[in-house]
Amino acid sequence: MIRNCSVLVVPAQGECRVDEYQDIVTEDGVIDEVMPTRAYQAEPDVEELDATGLIAVPGLVNSHTHSPMVMMRGAAEDLSIDDWFNRKIWPMETNLTPERVRVGARLACAEMLLAGVTTFVDHYFHADQIAAAALETGIRADLAPTFFSSTGADGREAAYQAARDIRALDVPRITASLGPHAPYTVTDEDLARTAEVARAEGFRIHLHAAETAEQTRSSQDRHGATPIEILERTGVLDAGALIAHGCGLTDSDFRILANHAARTTVAACPKVYLKLAMGSTTPIKQLQHAGIPVGVGTDGAAVHNTLDVWESLRLLALTQKQREQSAEWMTVSDTLRLATRGGAAAAGLPNDLGAIEPGRRADLALLDLSGPHNQPLHDPRAALVYSTRASDVVTVVVDGNIVVRDRELVTADLSDILAEARAVAHTLVDLSRGGAVQHYAP
Ligand SMILES: [Zn+2]
Repeated sequence: MIRNCSVLVVPAQGECRVDEYQDIVTEDGVIDEVMPTRAYQAEPDVEELDATGLIAVPGLVNSHTHSPMVMMRGAAEDLSIDDWFNRKIWPMETNLTPERVRVGARLACAEMLLAGVTTFVDHYFHADQIAAAALETGIRADLAPTFFSSTGADGREAAYQAARDIRALDVPRITASLGPHAPYTVTDEDLARTAEVARAEGFRIHLHAAETAEQTRSSQDRHGATPIEILERTGVLDAGALIAHGCGLTDSDFRILANHAARTTVAACPKVYLKLAMGSTTPIKQLQHAGIPVGVGTDGAAVHNTLDVWESLRLLALTQKQREQSAEWMTVSDTLRLATRGGAAAAGLPNDLGAIEPGRRADLALLDLSGPHNQPLHDPRAALVYSTRASDVVTVVVDGNIVVRDRELVTADLSDILAEARAVAHTLVDLSRGGAVQHYAP
């Protein structure tokens, strides 16, 4: 029972609003009621949380990330996209071990929870270790064990098995997807096989596609098809896909995606497009016209440097206004909707997450907007998009459980998480052995 907070109401369409002096009743991890304060007399055994002066916001969803890459935070700066992959990241990833991934994932979960991110949609290697970190810290996650075709049929099948193993944990908070890396690192045959497994076993497919206009041109030159056309002809779109980025989508791609709108979501990670000078951003206006839900993500912290979805949603609003050359596009309400309801779609849970309303999972963050950077508070919705900081998050609830209380992680020992990360950080960025997990040449 969360007492006496303001509530950010995010409707499916139209303006968001803030209802003041509300109580939120949760039971068995589900929001039972949202109603004016004190209309409800709590039973003596109900835990009450006094949220006076705080605003409750649907838990943010990080719609696309590679959480353990927090271990490479700040280790690959001021590089072209080619050098970022080929000189730094893919050589560094030869250093991955299950233990190092576990350490990184714990750090990532801590960072996200403390920032009010209650769900992350992940795409990485050793996903069993990421599942363990999510289980421990109490965050919600959809995990896609990732593979390249260069690891052969064994690598591919092991990734599918890792997804099955996560599903077999039978923890509703942790779901699995299939994670081919991208059409330029995974063959058409392997994409088709992935689509087959996804359809047969009810998985979604989470992958990168059409990240830049250059990738799309190169795909047309080499394969006579855009990355989206490849996803269509290999059955990936039929099976249902979460597509990261889509900055290089063509007009004909929108028509293809519209035919698969019920099973397709796109994640936009604008800070990455700015930082790697990718020249474009996700065409959200056209995607929405095609009926495709869009979520907001950070991508990996090896380029984003944070897993702070507040930062991402702010950059999303700014880059969308710039892209459309319209200050009236991507309003405060639309931006908040993308980070919540859009993220819920990206997580594959459009009806369970993304809003504080009866029947949805009790995933929310309570923020204190009384700091000088938010005051005076003419419009809390504007503050949430343009001036809020992750450190304004006070309390976080996932699945009805308090996981952050008074700005402290309660599910794991943060000092232990930080000590572990500092102890192994140097091993991940060591390039002395040479080699790389893959070569970037889309
Ligand atoms: Zn990515």
